Amino acid sequence: MANICLVEDEQKVAAFISKGLEEQGYKIHIANDGITAKALLQNNDFDLLILDVMLPDINGIELCRQIRFTNTKTPILMLTALDQIQNKVSGLKAGADDYLVKPFHFIELLARIEALLRRQKVVEVADHILAFDDLKLDTWSNVAERAGQQIALTAKEYTLLELFMSHPNKVLSREYIAEQVWKIDFDTGTNFIDVYVNYLRKKIEKGFKNKLIHTVIGMGYILKSDK
Ligand code: CA
Repeated sequence: MANICLVEDEQKVAAFISKGLEEQGYKIHIANDGITAKALLQNNDFDLLILDVMLPDINGIELCRQIRFTNTKTPILMLTALDQIQNKVSGLKAGADDYLVKPFHFIELLARIEALLRRQKVVEVADHILAFDDLKLDTWSNVAERAGQQIALTAKEYTLLELFMSHPNKVLSREYIAEQVWKIDFDTGTNFIDVYVNYLRKKIEKGFKNKLIHTVIGMGYILKSDK
């Protein structure tokens, strides 16, 4: 069963969540502050992190950003109070995968956790081949393959796809894409990122029912499976 780290300073909330999840068979580690959370993360492999935004020693969003610096894979669910809805955008930008507004029903928390744990992951099927859903990327030949069909990519399209495959299920902003693929600061007056994402989309989605690269309005793009 999945191993979950819960970072929450309110004892009552922490006890409510951990009791419920333990009843479902999950293994829970509780950290009451950011420092304890970081120590736990260094010594354990978790399948999922639940981070409260309001912590005594560090803002949960900042903690999320710091965790993402070294760990890009473990799903992160943020908990935020209703009057801090702005935290949703900040949290997602800091690398969180989902968020839940307090107070919430336990069943909703459970549904979010199950969805995050089920998410399609990028797997290394051979030492130079990455796979996500029915898409494969050969990092030696720079060729993509979808459902067995080879797709030739230009150098930039390849770099762009590799960037998406390195951050599956994460929203990538145009600023981040510009910085990583073109090594430049994004100029909001141009639309070349959108143009290139569309080139790549046409190549990997043409003739397929499932979309893989989705637009997140006002934020950027995300590689995720429709399944
Ligand atoms: Ca709190």
